[in-house]
Amino acid sequence: MPGVTQSTARPYPLPADEAGRLAELRRYDILDTPQEEDFDHLVLLASKLLRAPVALISLIEDERQWFKAKVGTDIPEVSREVSFCTHAILREAPVMVVPDARLDPRFSANPIVAGPLNVRFYAGAPLTAPSGHRLGALCVHDFEARPEGIDPEEERLLAALARAVVDRIELRRTTAAHRAGQERFERITATSPDAIVCADSDGRITSWNAAAEALFGYAAGDAVGRPLAMLVPEAKRGRHEAGFARAVAGEPVPAVGRTLELEALGRDGRAFQAEISLSTWREGGKAGFGAIIRDITERKAAEARLLHLAHYDTLTGLANREHLRRALRRTVEAATRHARSSALLLVDLDHFKNVNDSLGHAAGDALLAEAAGRLRGGVRERDVVARIGGDEFAVLLDGLEGADTAAAVAAKLIVALGEPFILEGRRVHVGVSVGVALCPHDGDAVDTLMANADLALYRAKKEGRGRYQFFDPNLRVAVEARRRLDLELRRAVAEEEFLLHYQPQVRLDDGAVVGVEALLRWNHPERGLLSPGAFLPALEESSLAAQAGSWVLRAACLQARAWLDAGLPPLRVGVNLSAAQFHSGGLASQVERILVETGLPPERLELEITENILLKHESQIIEPLRRLRRLGIGVAFDDFGTGFASLSHLRRFPIDRIKIDRSFIADIGGKADGGTIARSVVGLGKSLGLQVIAEGIEDEDQAGFLRLHGCDEAQGYLYGRPMPPEDIERRLRGQRSPVPNDA
Ligand code: C2E
Ligand code: MG
Ligand code: MG
Repeated sequence: MPGVTQSTARPYPLPADEAGRLAELRRYDILDTPQEEDFDHLVLLASKLLRAPVALISLIEDERQWFKAKVGTDIPEVSREVSFCTHAILREAPVMVVPDARLDPRFSANPIVAGPLNVRFYAGAPLTAPSGHRLGALCVHDFEARPEGIDPEEERLLAALARAVVDRIELRRTTAAHRAGQERFERITATSPDAIVCADSDGRITSWNAAAEALFGYAAGDAVGRPLAMLVPEAKRGRHEAGFARAVAGEPVPAVGRTLELEALGRDGRAFQAEISLSTWREGGKAGFGAIIRDITERKAAEARLLHLAHYDTLTGLANREHLRRALRRTVEAATRHARSSALLLVDLDHFKNVNDSLGHAAGDALLAEAAGRLRGGVRERDVVARIGGDEFAVLLDGLEGADTAAAVAAKLIVALGEPFILEGRRVHVGVSVGVALCPHDGDAVDTLMANADLALYRAKKEGRGRYQFFDPNLRVAVEARRRLDLELRRAVAEEEFLLHYQPQVRLDDGAVVGVEALLRWNHPERGLLSPGAFLPALEESSLAAQAGSWVLRAACLQARAWLDAGLPPLRVGVNLSAAQFHSGGLASQVERILVETGLPPERLELEITENILLKHESQIIEPLRRLRRLGIGVAFDDFGTGFASLSHLRRFPIDRIKIDRSFIADIGGKADGGTIARSVVGLGKSLGLQVIAEGIEDEDQAGFLRLHGCDEAQGYLYGRPMPPEDIERRLRGQRSPVPNDA
């Protein structure tokens, strides 16, 4: 038989789709469910129409036939072995008819045929699900045989009733699914923290959860059935209704699937910020709407706070760097579009660090706040005033008449900030430097303007603070040259392009060389041998200063030791120190270590310190110097007389020698009072028991003058220029051993 597999293990045939059929049947979830009136009606109808005492809706499971509805019997199910319907579902025909079961070899031995029940006639129409699987059959039995079978009219009726049964089974399933969905929906919405509101195509609320009750203040009973528009503030209702009408008409609703921020209205008349996600669907040919609504008032407030934080400086209340950049961007755009000019002023407090260090951070903060107020007071309301760094401010003057105005404002701000500040009862002066860049004149991009104003500021500070400076393209050239130099210096340190020259220092009495000063040279691969004037300022400002300084120390000590080993007369070697060597700390122990490593006796080393270093870094310097002197190392006060060191300083500093700056030596022999200063410095030194050496001696007159006035030593071109160490050696070999001068 086609479409049938005869199982050897089973005494009944199975349809070819048996596994799929069983799975489908189980999906209907109908087996062993209670009686249902609709099905009962259908079997009753079948029994009546076919005049049969028994009618059944049978569903065929794996090994049994279960009756969803029955007439004429109380049996709930029978085994599949005795089932007629098991055969009916094999047939392609709409109805299987067995006129007399006793005469049919398939059923003649069937106990319900042969036994006391004595069933004779059967007609069954398969229950074909929309999937094509036959779930069972609607059948009738009679205890009399009907040799004539059934007529075509009866056959049609039975088949039609079978279809009605299937429709009913189908309906049962969709209703169940719907009910489960509805239940799920209700359970979810009941516990959702967000308000969930549904509405029908008339805009009437159909669903209202607990969170909606809490959010809007209406109980579900008060809300369901009322117009959705009541949740929309009066002013927004027109738009809401127009949008709703479009959605009902089936037009695409752009708001669907996105999160919107809207205003919503509560029962108490309070409008609040809400985040809303909308969805729509069609139900019975009509539109349905759903909205998930969340109160975001707090979030909005937090966002506003963050936004403020992101744009304003908390200490001064001024705009911050980010805000300034935005304003600058707008300015730049306006400048290009409307030929409007503006000016960016960078304002830097001149001695802020001192205040912070000496009076503490609270005073520093108070100063910044006060300075901010003065800046704000010095410009128009619409100008942006920002704090863009610790003690750095910026002012953006928009819609400027000309550069003169910018200059006038800069001058005004300098005056305003030059007034003393009263901090912790003290009058404090700070002052500012200002760098100005004009837009579009000095740049039409935010970064360029900032960088150019910064260059101008840098220059203003260099030129002596308390000034303003306009940007000038030459500034950039200078800065770039400087940047290049910095890079080259880095390489110079790494590649050891530095070397030392030595300049003799002689005793004026007899002209004997008693010492040398080590002077740094840079053997630049392109520019040749460079003197410190060409690179020292850059080196000292860079992070390499300390490293280079210790290189010099070690190299000079090594050289001095080498001369000693070569049997040359004992020499003192002078080494210049830079401020950075004191900052890094541990100078004394470093010097000690170098002396140990090189084996140079301490009294052979003299450290030269300029007045500037001494005065500026007094607190960091005195102690290390004392320690070094205790070791026997000499300390000389270099370039003496060029700065502001006074007699009292000379007493306080632990020094052995002063070096009269060469500018005072050059005076000797010139004007009438030439040499006065040199002479008094010598006298001063002597009175304090210090050694005195004169720098820059170029002629015999100068040497004679100094010798006359009791100066101990001299250094200058007259005795020799700074020279490579070999030249010093040659020079010393020709000289008899000097008598130690303070023997
Ligand atoms: P300084 O310590 O006062 O060194 C003396 C400077 O005067 C040297 O210039 C020297 O060449 C110059 N000089 C010597 N005799 C005469 C003279 O008769 N006439 C004239 N016109 N000049 C004379 P240099 O070598 O260019 O050094 C300049 C400055 O650079 C030094 O002044 C010193 O402050 C600094 N310096 C040099 N080497 C080093 C170093 O290794 N470390 C540190 N930190 N600074 C150094
Ligand atoms: Mg020196
Ligand atoms: Mg000097």
